[in-house]
Amino acid sequence: MIKVIVSHDVDHLYGRDHWFRDLIYPKMWVRTTLELFRGQITGHEWWLRNTSCFRKYRHNLQAQMDFDREHGIESVFFFGMAKGLGMSYKPAEAKPMISLVHDNGFDTGVHGIDYQSQDGINKEYNTFKELMGYDPCGIRMHYVRFDEETFGRLNVAGYVFDTTEFDKPSCGTLKAPYMVGDMWEFPLAIMDGYLPQQFEKAKEKTLEILDRCRGMGLTYVTVLFHDYQFCDDYKDIRDWYVWLMDYIKDSPDYEFISYRKAIAELGGTL
Ligand SMILES: [Zn+2]
Repeated sequence: MIKVIVSHDVDHLYGRDHWFRDLIYPKMWVRTTLELFRGQITGHEWWLRNTSCFRKYRHNLQAQMDFDREHGIESVFFFGMAKGLGMSYKPAEAKPMISLVHDNGFDTGVHGIDYQSQDGINKEYNTFKELMGYDPCGIRMHYVRFDEETFGRLNVAGYVFDTTEFDKPSCGTLKAPYMVGDMWEFPLAIMDGYLPQQFEKAKEKTLEILDRCRGMGLTYVTVLFHDYQFCDDYKDIRDWYVWLMDYIKDSPDYEFISYRKAIAELGGTL
């Protein structure tokens, strides 16, 4: 039996997040135009993605939560408490969205920016806590950045779990959860952005990864899907997520679990 943990990094909240704050929109125009000419996306997707800057919201939190709830997925949502690498909303702007997710019964944590300094890491933890009045459930670093000291620093900051370890050249880290001090590290096995961006190929690659996990005897497998892609703008990868969740739900070999319950099973508490 493989237990699948589903997580969502909330990289974007509002269309205005990136107005005069970063270069996300001009970069997106160049990238999507190249993808359109290469036949990797449709004209409809090009249009939807490039007009997303004028929409009020760039997240799909409600639709994501509704889907996850219907599928019995106790997912977790990570929110930025600092800006960087194209994540440009402010903590105060995130607050109503974190409350929305929390009130819907899902766990919320920090999508970390600073991975190199203890002060910066502590600051993001405390910003979340002061903003929301409760502790973040855990953390994943934005762009899965870490160095050899990062996990130790996250433990010192007080996080119960981190789920950042990800080997980019291998497109995932297939490894059992392990402890760093008092903190659990859940390596990330499957990330939407590191799969082929075409439905059939993404599906094929995912089945290959799951086979390897089974071969290695892993009990816990962590999946990351960005909620901003849970819409028609990113049809192939959205359809991949829907397929994967149906596949896990319907297969006797898999079940969903949350980080919270996995930690309880592993002998810790959250
Ligand atoms: Zn991110």
